[in-house]
Amino acid sequence: MPSLVSVAGSERRLRDPNPTPKLLGVGFVFLLTRAGLAVNMGLSENKAGWANLPNEPEYMRLIFLGPPGSGKGTQAKLLSQRLGLLHYATGNILREAIEKDTPEGRLAKPYMANGQLVPDELVNDIVNARFRGTDKPTRFVMDGYPRTLEQALSFDKTLKEQSLGLNAVIFLKVEDEEIVRRNSARWTCTNPECGATYNTVFKPPKQAGRCDICQQSLYQRDDDKPETIRKRVQLFHKLHADVLRHYEQQGLLAEVSATGDIEAIYAGIVNALGTDRK
Ligand code: AMP
Repeated sequence: MPSLVSVAGSERRLRDPNPTPKLLGVGFVFLLTRAGLAVNMGLSENKAGWANLPNEPEYMRLIFLGPPGSGKGTQAKLLSQRLGLLHYATGNILREAIEKDTPEGRLAKPYMANGQLVPDELVNDIVNARFRGTDKPTRFVMDGYPRTLEQALSFDKTLKEQSLGLNAVIFLKVEDEEIVRRNSARWTCTNPECGATYNTVFKPPKQAGRCDICQQSLYQRDDDKPETIRKRVQLFHKLHADVLRHYEQQGLLAEVSATGDIEAIYAGIVNALGTDRK
């Protein structure tokens, strides 16, 4: 894995890769005040999250990377809600396409069912259609994309065409064994008519190994077994090494520890975003 850009704890503002005349004009001073930002966004100060984040959310264009179980989705959602950013999760989009039985969904289905990545071309086409459309997002947090170097290169090209620059790529870091522990905590009821699931860390059954609902025994699905998860973690590192290096070379990468409670991790992200990276 490439070394990551160190992030100091200061609260300086992020460089905007595409400053607009608005920031340079008369509205500049107004925009730099908390109230100004909240009014500008049409949100209350708390809703805008400005009290916590010293950057202009209107320029936030972020990518979240992290292994399965790093809490990437949770943090991306939280940030998008608090800062009014589009939360763009390719996994959700693909699941929805499958549910709606669209051509993309039909193509993606066998890959997703086997826990494999869908082909780059398919996911790139979906993302490109969204980012080239008339209502293209200008502030967003990407969750689950890009996952390969090919996807990162395609996304770079699309953003460049649209004159949109990225502000930061946040890598949520968790030790491998902690990932195994988090992901292997799921136990499923053996009774096929019940199928209840438990999480021995977050939602343990009242009696170890027994279903609270139907009292049948619990088992671990192959997918949830530590040895399977270890393989997935290895695959994650293999694929993401290139992606991390790519963004590191662009000076965009910041590493944030993803251990601790949700708010502590969120604070780490905010701190990383409030800091110029060298
Ligand atoms: P996620 O919800 O991010 O864990 O994604 C669920 C599944 O969707 C993955 O296991 C892949 O099969 C597919 N998927 C989501 N995003 C991508 C992507 N960027 N590239 C390839 N496959 C993806």
